[in-house]
Amino acid sequence: MPGKKKQSDHTKCVAAHGDAGRFDGAMTTPIYQTSNYRFTDSLAVRKAMEGRGGYVYARYSNPTVEAAEEKLAALENGEQALLFASGMAATTSVCLAFLKAGDRLVAAKSLYGGTQEFFDNVLQRFGIRVDYLAPEDFTRLPAHLAEPPKLLWFETPVNPNLKILDIAPIAAGCRGKGVLTVIDNTFATPINQKPLDLGVDLVMHSASKYIGGHSDLIGGVVIGAAEHLQKIYEMRKLLGGCADPHLAFLIGRGLKTLAVRVEKHNQNAQKIAEFMQNHPRVSRVFYPGLPDAPGHEIAKKQMAGFGGMVCFAVIGGLDGAIKVIDSFKLIANAGSLGGVESMACLPALTSHFGLSAEQRQAAGISDGMIRLSVGLESPADLMADLDQALGA
Ligand code: PLP
Repeated sequence: MPGKKKQSDHTKCVAAHGDAGRFDGAMTTPIYQTSNYRFTDSLAVRKAMEGRGGYVYARYSNPTVEAAEEKLAALENGEQALLFASGMAATTSVCLAFLKAGDRLVAAKSLYGGTQEFFDNVLQRFGIRVDYLAPEDFTRLPAHLAEPPKLLWFETPVNPNLKILDIAPIAAGCRGKGVLTVIDNTFATPINQKPLDLGVDLVMHSASKYIGGHSDLIGGVVIGAAEHLQKIYEMRKLLGGCADPHLAFLIGRGLKTLAVRVEKHNQNAQKIAEFMQNHPRVSRVFYPGLPDAPGHEIAKKQMAGFGGMVCFAVIGGLDGAIKVIDSFKLIANAGSLGGVESMACLPALTSHFGLSAEQRQAAGISDGMIRLSVGLESPADLMADLDQALGA
């Protein structure tokens, strides 16, 4: 049997938790619906409090949570993972674990809107300086690291415009300066992109998207070396953004089909992007799998698949985009992504609503942009829906 790191993602997704004897041989991970634990004696309490085995309180950890964490760590080729109650709980815990007043954070200009709001409205309020770099600036990174920040935060593919950043040189440039790198890998998924293998320090996901995969949970995860995760674990304990056992069960269940789902998302999105590229009412398509997409060559190098997200701009700006989105019959008008069902949104009205018009412009988000999360329906049915809505 191949070693864990060498196993295929399909096997890692499906494989049961550890050895056959774990959880009394249960095929699925039991939900440990308990807030706290009893001890045989005070020696056992001391052992558990010192982190030498056993559980104390579900805000610290729980066997169902740990089983999902192990699977996620394996999928990202990481040493350890920590599950959170949401992607934002993961983001905020990572930042507060490493940053203090007077520190500097460098972030990409195009980010999930909530992440940017947290950086601007919370971190800056606590005396942490945040500087934003345009995607193009990442090709001249050393100049921007002359005054090394504590932490560098980026996404690729970028939400929502699917720009691609070259991960390996960014990670190498930061490591040389002692800058901790964090990537939001939500859009790519661990199936399409493994940033830890490319030198990034920490990977985070909103598990509410592809990892859960069924639009029925809110969760988050951070994966990386144990040395870093210990600091984040302490912060999770104090901020209280832990995942509850039922959420961990749902995440574990979603993970079993992650590799299969992502393969199909990739195939469907490629077909939809090619169809949209040739549509007379579409002015621009953003998808890294299109051979003439600006980041195509880099995406080919660092991704196993180009993902399920397609972004396009329609003729007619915001009014035109609203007309299209309101005319969908099969595709849902919804602000999230990564579920089995196709959904579309106007980033200007949803994920990036909290940003000013200038910030949206700086992030490369036009008002007439539609972000489409391509689901697992038949591509022919999706194209028919897109065609009739664009005709409207
Ligand atoms: N990162 C990305 C790329 C997202 O799209 C989102 C949510 O939309 C988040 C982070 C935040 O995750 P959550 O909604 O699970 O808190």
